[in-house]
Amino acid sequence: MSLLLASYHGVHVPDLRPGHVKLRWLKPDWHRNTRVRERSKTCPCRAVVYTLFQTGGLAFIQRVNADDTVETERLRTAITREMWDWILTGRAV
Ligand SMILES: [Zn+2]
Repeated sequence: MSLLLASYHGVHVPDLRPGHVKLRWLKPDWHRNTRVRERSKTCPCRAVVYTLFQTGGLAFIQRVNADDTVETERLRTAITREMWDWILTGRAV
């Protein structure tokens, strides 16, 4: 069991590609988080962890590091999933 846990890693965000896009990050809007479902998450072994959340017909991404928690705007799921894909392929930060 401990061996399994020790060897397990989730998705790692790769190094940023040249020409990557900088996303707009906002302060978390906690009071709106009444019905939020976690859809996907990058590996917590890294200093920066990204989580994809779904809330109704909208979605957003949260970025957490040691001293800050920020979120993207809540947008249509298809748009947010594309941003998520960009983050996971080093095309956005
Ligand atoms: Zn890891």
